[in-house]
Amino acid sequence: MNRSRDNSNERSPLLNTNGHHEDDERTRGALSTRDPKSRIVVWSVLTLVFIAALVVLVGFEDKLGDSVKGWLGILPKNPTKAAIMILDKAPVIDGHIDLPALVRYKYANNVSAIDLNRKMPGHVDIPRLKKGKVGGFFWSTYVSCPKPDIAGKNFLGASWKVRDTLEQIDVSKLLIEKYPETFSLALNSGDVKNAISGGKIASLLGVEGGHQLGNSIAVLRQYHALGVRYLTLTHTCHNAFADSCGLLPGIIPLHYGLSPLGRSLIGEMNRLGVLVDLSHTSDDTARQALNHSKAPVIWSHSSARAVHEVPRNVPDDILKLIGRGANKTDAVVMVNFAPFFIAYPGEADLYAVADHVDHIARIAGKEHVGLGSDFDGIGEVPEGLEDVSKYPALIAELYRRGWNKYELAGLTGGNLLRVMEGAEEVAKELQTANTRPVFDIYSKRKDLPPRASEEDL
Ligand SMILES: [Zn+2]
Repeated sequence: MNRSRDNSNERSPLLNTNGHHEDDERTRGALSTRDPKSRIVVWSVLTLVFIAALVVLVGFEDKLGDSVKGWLGILPKNPTKAAIMILDKAPVIDGHIDLPALVRYKYANNVSAIDLNRKMPGHVDIPRLKKGKVGGFFWSTYVSCPKPDIAGKNFLGASWKVRDTLEQIDVSKLLIEKYPETFSLALNSGDVKNAISGGKIASLLGVEGGHQLGNSIAVLRQYHALGVRYLTLTHTCHNAFADSCGLLPGIIPLHYGLSPLGRSLIGEMNRLGVLVDLSHTSDDTARQALNHSKAPVIWSHSSARAVHEVPRNVPDDILKLIGRGANKTDAVVMVNFAPFFIAYPGEADLYAVADHVDHIARIAGKEHVGLGSDFDGIGEVPEGLEDVSKYPALIAELYRRGWNKYELAGLTGGNLLRVMEGAEEVAKELQTANTRPVFDIYSKRKDLPPRASEEDL
């Protein structure tokens, strides 16, 4: 067998078959690095080529064309071009987009009347998502807080909010299905990565307020079954689970953070793998949730209070609780673009948003900041960040400020993916340990019979 293989090799046209072995030896001898002189020549030439390449790279980096630089993995000096190159590899995954709310309030949830391939009245449509290099976003399935006179002081009159939330989940899913070449429903970090690598926009669902649960942890389980992967513990109202920061300063606390039912809710979110979202919550709620959650948490759309003082922004003392060291919780704060949260009237622009990103990065670390624009949920927009097509301008500004490509890839989506993976890992551990579902019932409900205690069973 060996012989026949040798024979076939000899017939290869790549081999010299003329049989002049002496010529072969001479030729080989001239090039052989066994000859000390030849070796010196070869190594000298290689060294010169190497030094020349270094000189070109270091000394004449500016002169290299952008395509050559791209090939070499070097970003161009031009921030706009650099931003596009970064976003091509690490597109934006926005923590909070209110397109479903726009569909509710402007189109009465008539999905057939929506054409996302044309310019939509808000900040989001497919052409602008593509221009803005968006690789994913959380579709916020928001419905407003019930009016206090309807909800009552115990929140027992909030049941239509569950219907309305189901309608918003329905609208989101129908729109995602309507454009299968663009959107792909994502239920975990793996789905997000697959969607992006397939050139699609990963579409995640988030519920924006505990009031949307109708006081029931069982409702959370069913939202999860429908694909919801974050719950904002509160919107602008307190609910049975936790205190809100309200909209304006001065809201009077009800639970002074989480209620006992709120702690049970977080336990169930950890078990299911639903991210705890602390945007809109009071500072006490945020501190207690950071402490109580076994899984990493998010702020889906919140900025920095030290940069602009409003209750919706995250204060430095809470930013300092974020991290991966001892007594810290991994988290990502995704910066909100709403002018009211960013700067004084008339001063909200792209640079002010970049200031918020920079500040959160300085206090919590660059691995803990992301983007949660609130597009389609905000009436006004900052100058330079008017819609979803403008993310590259913000990335360019941060590149100009010294952020490198790895840090920017974390900001655009990598940090959120790390947090999602962390929460998925915790859920897996809890489920593997057979942690049972939470059956706690809101104590103010009178529609169910009193329960026998565990000991009586
Ligand atoms: Zn919000």
